[in-house]
Amino acid sequence: MSRGGDSPRITPSEPALRIILRRLREIMAEPSDGQSRLDRIVRQIAGLMVAEVCSIYLKRQDGSLELFATEGLNPGAVHNTFMKRGEGLVGRCAELAVPINEPDAQNHPAFSYRPETGEEIYHSFLAVPILRGGDVLGVLTVQNKTPKEYSDEDVEVLQTTAMVLAEHLVSGAVPGANTGAEYNRTLGHVIRGQPLSEGLALGHVVLHEARIVVTELESKDPDEENRRLEAAVEELKASIDEMLEQGELAATGEHRDVLEAYRMFAHDRGWLRRMKEAIKRGMTAEAAVERAQNDTRARMLRQSDSYWRERLRDLDELSDRLLRILSGRPRAHVGAANLLHDTVLVARTMGAADLLDYDRSRLRGLVLEDSGGQSHVAIVAKALGIAAVGNARGIMERVDQGNPIIVDAESGEVHIRPSSEVIGAYGDKARFQARRHRKYRALRDRPALTKDGQRIELHINAGLLMDVPHLGESGADGIGLFRTELQFMISATLPRLERQIQMYRAVVAEAGQKPVVFRTLDVGGDKVLPYLRQPQEENPALGWRAIRLGLDRPGLLRTQVRALLRATSGVELRLLLPMVTAVGEVDMARALIDRELDLLQKRAMPGPTKVLLGVMIEVPSLLYELDALMPRIDFVSVGSNDLLQYFFAADRNNTRVAARYDALSAAPLRALAAIVDAARQHGRPLSLCGEMASRPLEAMALIGLGYRSISMAPASVGPVKSMILSLDAGELQRWLRATIHTAEGNVRPQLKRYAEEHGVEI
Ligand code: PEP
Ligand code: MG
Repeated sequence: MSRGGDSPRITPSEPALRIILRRLREIMAEPSDGQSRLDRIVRQIAGLMVAEVCSIYLKRQDGSLELFATEGLNPGAVHNTFMKRGEGLVGRCAELAVPINEPDAQNHPAFSYRPETGEEIYHSFLAVPILRGGDVLGVLTVQNKTPKEYSDEDVEVLQTTAMVLAEHLVSGAVPGANTGAEYNRTLGHVIRGQPLSEGLALGHVVLHEARIVVTELESKDPDEENRRLEAAVEELKASIDEMLEQGELAATGEHRDVLEAYRMFAHDRGWLRRMKEAIKRGMTAEAAVERAQNDTRARMLRQSDSYWRERLRDLDELSDRLLRILSGRPRAHVGAANLLHDTVLVARTMGAADLLDYDRSRLRGLVLEDSGGQSHVAIVAKALGIAAVGNARGIMERVDQGNPIIVDAESGEVHIRPSSEVIGAYGDKARFQARRHRKYRALRDRPALTKDGQRIELHINAGLLMDVPHLGESGADGIGLFRTELQFMISATLPRLERQIQMYRAVVAEAGQKPVVFRTLDVGGDKVLPYLRQPQEENPALGWRAIRLGLDRPGLLRTQVRALLRATSGVELRLLLPMVTAVGEVDMARALIDRELDLLQKRAMPGPTKVLLGVMIEVPSLLYELDALMPRIDFVSVGSNDLLQYFFAADRNNTRVAARYDALSAAPLRALAAIVDAARQHGRPLSLCGEMASRPLEAMALIGLGYRSISMAPASVGPVKSMILSLDAGELQRWLRATIHTAEGNVRPQLKRYAEEHGVEI
C-alpha cells in the first residue's frame, strides 16, 4: 500500500477496495450505536491501509470541524479538537472539497498544530472530503510517521470509505453529526437568496428530482456492471438525441444549445473511462457514476470562472440523469398530472434542460440552493417569466413536498410555510401587481404618445430566441438591442456559421415586421468563452472585450457579420457595435462589413436590402468625438449601463459602489443631452438601451432631455408607456434643459417633485 514503506503492502485496486467495502458492510450491519461504528471504521481503515492514524472530522453547524473518531491520535482529543472553517489541512480539505496529499504535513504552511492530539510525530498526511450530494459533511484522514506521498490507490480507497461514511451519517445514526437533517420542517422560515428572475410567486413546493440515493456500492460482477453502465450511457445519448429532434426544440434555438452541450459531455470518453475504472475496482455502476460526479462537484467548487462552473454543472446534471436511468426512473420531473397548478420548484441545482422539461403553465416560481445569476437556468427562467431565487442556502433541508411557499424575487426572500399574516400581505401585493399588469396589458395596443402628441418609440432588449415573443406581448415597437453573446454563452462550443444563421434567421422571422437591432458580440472581460482562449486580466471591464476583441480576432467578427448578412436576406440589417472608444474602430468594422458584402455579391448570394451601422455610446471618450462619429454611422444607441460605469468610475456589478452615484445627477444628464444635440445636428436616429430606460422616472428624464426612442426590459414597457401617456414632453423638456444647465449634484428629488406636481404616473 504505502509507497516504499516497510509495512506490508495490500495490492492496489480491486482486492483492497473489496476488503474494505466488505468490512465496512459488516460494521454497518452490526447492532451498535453510531459512535461505536465510527470508532470501528477508523480502526479498520488504519489497519487495512497500514496507516498509523485514521481520523474522522465532522462538520458542525457553524462550518467548523470536530474530531469525532480517531485511531492513533490521543483518544482524549475526540470531541475536544475543533478546527475553524478553513483552518489547517483538514479545514482546507473541507473548504476546497478535494483530497490533500502531503508527504511532509508538519512543514506545510497551512498546517495547524494541535498539541492535544499528539500528531507531531506524523509526517505524511492524506485527507479526503466526506461528500454527500455536493455537500461536504466532514473529512477523513490517514497519517503515517514516514514522509511519503500516498498513492492514487490509497486516495481511491479512502474516497470510497468516505462515500460509505456519508451514507452512514445521513442515516442520522451518529448523534451530533451535522447532516442538515435536524431542521424543524414544520416551522415557518425565511431564506434570503439572490434574485435570478423578477416576480412574485405564491404556491406549493414541488421538489425537483429527489436525488437518487446510491446504496449499493460494491458489485458482485464487474462485467455485468460494465454492461449496465454502457447500456445506460447509450440510453442517455439516445434520449438527448430524441430531445434534440423534437419539433418544438428545433424551433427554439437556445434549448438546442443547452442540449448540444449535454450531447458533447455524454460522448466524452474521459467521463466514461473514469466511471469504468471505478467499476473495475469493484463498484456498482451507480457508485461509479456518483464517484465521478463527486469529482465533478469538487472541481465545480474550486472553479471561480462562472462559465466553466456552468459547464461542470451540465456534467453534474448529466450524471443525475444517468443515475436515474440506472435506477429505472429516467425522468426527473413529476408527471404533468401530478404537477400542482401553482408549482414552485425547489432544487439544489437544476440544469436549463430540466426546467424546460416542466409544463410551463403550472410553474409559478423556482428556488435553487446554489445557482447564481449567470447560470443557464437563470437565463431560461427569466425568458420564461418565472419568479426565481438562487443561492438560497439550506432550502433543501428545510422544505418538504407540498409545503406552502412564497418566492419574492424582488428582494430575494423565500418564505417557507409562511404564517397567514405573511400570506395575506403577499396576497395583497400579488393582487395589486395583477391589477397593474391588467392595466398595462390594456395599454398594449395604444401608441406611446405624450399628452402633447409626441410619439416615443419603445423597444425591448432581448438576447435569446425565447425572449422574442415578448415583443408581441408588450406591444413594443421592435427589439432595440439583441445581445447576441447570450447564445455564445450557453453553447459548449463556438456556434458555427450555419448555427448562427439559423438562430438570427429565427429571431428575424419571430419578430415579423418589427425591426431588430443586432449587437455584435460583446464578449471578453467577465464574459469569458473558454473556447476563445483569453488572457486573465487584472481589470476585465477595462480590458480586451467587445469590439476590441472583434477587431483583433477578425475571424470571429467576420463569421458573425457573414451570418447576420445571410440571415437578413430581403430585409434591413441593423448592426450595432459595442464599446466603441475611438472612431477609427468604426472605420475598421465598416471595412470588414463591406468586404463581407462584396463577397456575398460575388457569390451571388441574397443579402439584406440595406445595412444600417450603429454605434453604442458606452465609453466617455466618444462624447468628445461625436462630430467625427455621427457622419460615419447610420444610428446611435447609448449603453447607459456601461457609460455610467465608466463616467463615474464605479463598477456596475460591485454592490458597494454601483448605486453610489445617481444617473439622475446633473453631470451625466448633461452628457446625455450633448448626445441628443449631436444626433439631432447630424440627423442621426438616437436611442438609449441601458437599464435607465426601464425605470419610469429615469425614462421621463430621458424624454425631457430629448430622447424619442428607448429600449428596455420587456416588463417595463407597460409602466413606461403609462408614464408617457400622462406626460407633456415639451413642457418637461423646457424645464429640464434649463434645470440641468444650472443644477449641481443630484436632480432626482426635483424630477420626482416635477412628476408629482404635473400628475405624471411614475
Ligand atoms: C449598456 O451598457 O447599457 C448595455 C445596454 O449593454 P450591456 O448591458 O449588455 O453591457
Ligand atoms: Mg454595455
